[in-house]
Amino acid sequence: MEGKEKTEGKRLEEELFNKKKSGWERTTDEDKKIIFKFSDEYMEFLNRSKTEREFVKSAKEVLDRNGYKDINTLDKINPGDKVYYINREKSMYIAVIGNKKLEEGLNLVGAHIDSPRIDLRPNALYEDSHFAYFDTHYYGGIKTYQWTTIPLSMHGVIVKPDGEKISVNIGENEGDPIFTITDLLPHLAKEQMQKKLGEGVNGEDLNLLIGNMPFNDEAVGEKVKLNIMKILNEKYGIKEADFLSAEIELVPAFKARSLGFDESMVAGYGQDDKVCAYTSLRAILEANVQDKTAVCILSDKEEVGSMGNTGMESQVFDYFISELLNKSGDNRPNLINKVFCNSSMLSADVGTAFDPIYASVSDRNNAAFASFGIAFDKYTGIKGKSGGSDANAEFIGKLRGILEKNNIQYQLSEIGKIDAGGGGTIAYILANKGVEVIDCGVPVLSMHAPYEVTSKYDVYEAYRTYKVFFEEA
Ligand code: MN
Ligand code: MN
Repeated sequence: MEGKEKTEGKRLEEELFNKKKSGWERTTDEDKKIIFKFSDEYMEFLNRSKTEREFVKSAKEVLDRNGYKDINTLDKINPGDKVYYINREKSMYIAVIGNKKLEEGLNLVGAHIDSPRIDLRPNALYEDSHFAYFDTHYYGGIKTYQWTTIPLSMHGVIVKPDGEKISVNIGENEGDPIFTITDLLPHLAKEQMQKKLGEGVNGEDLNLLIGNMPFNDEAVGEKVKLNIMKILNEKYGIKEADFLSAEIELVPAFKARSLGFDESMVAGYGQDDKVCAYTSLRAILEANVQDKTAVCILSDKEEVGSMGNTGMESQVFDYFISELLNKSGDNRPNLINKVFCNSSMLSADVGTAFDPIYASVSDRNNAAFASFGIAFDKYTGIKGKSGGSDANAEFIGKLRGILEKNNIQYQLSEIGKIDAGGGGTIAYILANKGVEVIDCGVPVLSMHAPYEVTSKYDVYEAYRTYKVFFEEA
């Protein structure tokens, strides 16, 4: 259309319509380099932080290097101080103290660092037909069939009665063995293949194959099991009963990798929600916090309902905020409620990316597209928004102002078609305390699968969103 005047309609269309397009269309070569470098750093972090405990450990290392202090070691806090609180090695809260009083409100960004996986049962080790197995209990919403016939690694801790804690991480290094859950050969799967997809592999049948070599002694009944126990005893000094006080998680042994000829995407395990957790962490590390105190939440147990003392439902977060008030010297009865009522939050959790192969579950006009920027979900819930958290229009308007001023690409979306299903996040928990809150995060393909897919463009826009929110909200 070079040289031609725009028609009146064309001009109006450009001015009035909310035209959505891929963020890559406006990305310069220079931007692309920055985005790719950020994603490389993200993937590197993800590869050594596959569980909530490992994520906390990796985050603590970064925070310690950057001058953050454990709040328990401080008597007093002042504007400019950087602190964190670690909750039982599984969740953490990070704060950068602003110049304004805490009661004027906090800028919160909250993500979760647990991901769907398979846990060992307390009585895990058994032998059957010359194989040794670990019996398991899956964690979170998984499609069980996806977790068979893939390499799995083992992460966690074993705690002995005397308090000694043994860290376990097997299957991530090149020289390590891996583990797997077997599936039936198609030749004999006639009956299995006729079952519904959700019933083809029973949760009860997710048994981890861990050995096949006997301890050669005719006097012993379970020779393969004994041989495994002997190896574990030599390597970790443990006995079978020590699994009673262990938390061992099985996760895919794959590394996060660039996806596609154009390398525009990230494939990796646990991106729900470590992609938002990592970008939140980077955001608080790099934000120039001035007025309001910035708080980053890395919570546990979101995938199983946020219950328990490391989940967002626990009072431990309120205790952390109370400690901020106490140590800044101006706490008084019920002040924490004022803090919450004046606060705002981005509930940083992943969204559903529109998948054309499964287009029927999405409303195209209200779906999030990969590479179209960070996705905000005004509300969550199921069947008429039930059980969801619904963000206020005033809050969204304010956020749009901040995003547009900073030239950040964003989209408003829903998880899927009405009555097709639904989901929730930690948003409602903070909303119940009086915080203004909206869900926003990176759209994901194959959510909760062993290998999830994100767009590098969206990963970077999420980081930019959380950073400007800490600085300007
Ligand atoms: Mn999530
Ligand atoms: Mn999830």
